[in-house]
Amino acid sequence: MTATLKPKIKIYTKDNIHTLPQFEKISKEKQFELKVVASILPFRVNNYVTDNLVDWDNLESDPLCHLNFMQKDMLSESHFNSVAQLISTNQGNTPLFFQTVNRIRLELNPHPSGQLTSNVPNHDDEPVSGVQHKYRQTVLVFPKQGQTCHSYCTFCFRWAQFSDLDDLRFATDQHRGFLNYIKEHKELTDVLITGGDPMIMNARILKTYIEPLLGPEYSHIQTIRIGSKTLSYWPYRYISDRDTNEVLALFEKAVAANKTLAFMAHVNHHRELETDAARQAVKAIQGTGAIIRSQSPILKHINDAAAIWERNWNLQVRMGIIPYYMFVERDTGPQNYFAIPLIKALEVYRTALKNVSGLARTARGPSMSATPGKVNIEDVQVIRGQKVMVLKFLQGRDPEWVGKPFYAKFDPEAKWLTDLKPAFGEKQFFFERDIRVVNSAISNI
Ligand SMILES: *Cc1c(COP(=O)(O)O)cnc(C)c1O
Ligand code: SF4
Repeated sequence: MTATLKPKIKIYTKDNIHTLPQFEKISKEKQFELKVVASILPFRVNNYVTDNLVDWDNLESDPLCHLNFMQKDMLSESHFNSVAQLISTNQGNTPLFFQTVNRIRLELNPHPSGQLTSNVPNHDDEPVSGVQHKYRQTVLVFPKQGQTCHSYCTFCFRWAQFSDLDDLRFATDQHRGFLNYIKEHKELTDVLITGGDPMIMNARILKTYIEPLLGPEYSHIQTIRIGSKTLSYWPYRYISDRDTNEVLALFEKAVAANKTLAFMAHVNHHRELETDAARQAVKAIQGTGAIIRSQSPILKHINDAAAIWERNWNLQVRMGIIPYYMFVERDTGPQNYFAIPLIKALEVYRTALKNVSGLARTARGPSMSATPGKVNIEDVQVIRGQKVMVLKFLQGRDPEWVGKPFYAKFDPEAKWLTDLKPAFGEKQFFFERDIRVVNSAISNI
């Protein structure tokens, strides 16, 4: 499919947001709030999103406005007030301001679930930079050039990476040690290239991550997954960018080398897939033989209603996209703004699932990617007279944990694994006992 239109990307940050053509649609009060919150959390939005996704006549309730534009309540009142006070007294450039910003960022649990250290493997006694290997079959690779996105989601759990807090500590280095690691770890079947958004990389650089994996030393790798939000934030990547043809040819090459190329699309709301450009992008990717799966957290203000998931999953199935995961918002950054009780997430999941056909019931969830593994909320039951929540590992730091139900006291307010208490008078969950053996370095569960 050839597009006649070649849109150019324009990026807005907190420094040039006033040049956005629709900026006047935002009230003065909200403009100030945006400025305050964007001092703490990273803000970026591009012209595709502002022209095609945001509903400018409905900003207060528009889910896609909340997806990218900061709201006052994304910070606690005291955090907001400290920053607001400095900005409104013209101290926005002072050492005190930067100290305040830094302190607040550190108070927002910037590295949830031991992200920075606990899953980085060693090779020849050296940590392999830009790699996380938590579950046996799947290794995550964070390409250095892919640690940013076309726009930033306000809820992003990797937000610290996009602020100057982190200095890209997750990313691969120029020695490309990840390749040796993957070569020698024959238990791996899946490489997940992630970010940020790896599809922000140009085709030439993307190739350097994908092509080596097609060689004979990597025959144990069956699936290459690419985690990306580009269908929603820059679908022209697959239609009319300068190197679009090279990107698609690279996907074809991976498929021809007998790999499953799984494009893991992050889709929070069905409207992201309802533009002509998104539809064209989906077709272009599928035309290469890649398959598209989708995942999203469940988020207050964006998609915490069953009807949204129903429509999203139904639409995806019609487009040939396979629904994969419903996640729970992590315990970091603006979690308070977006998180909903686990019980509510389960209710939304169930209601949506029962209203879609079997083909759309491939999504698992609601699942928490926590320190010990991916914990799914399965059910609420009364067992031995006690109301309990039934949980199950979809992935565990120890593969033996997977699939066995375990129980937490019913808690209608709990929003994360660390809020839950074991049922039946137990002092610990079974994995808390085991995990000290598996990795004594983990303390935050
Ligand atoms: C989710 C996840 C994976 C992939 O798990 P699958 O169940 O195979 O999709 C791998 N590594 C980490 C750290 C994850 O969170
Ligand atoms: S696209 Fe993904 S990594 Fe990028 S800001 Fe959104 S959630 Fe975060």
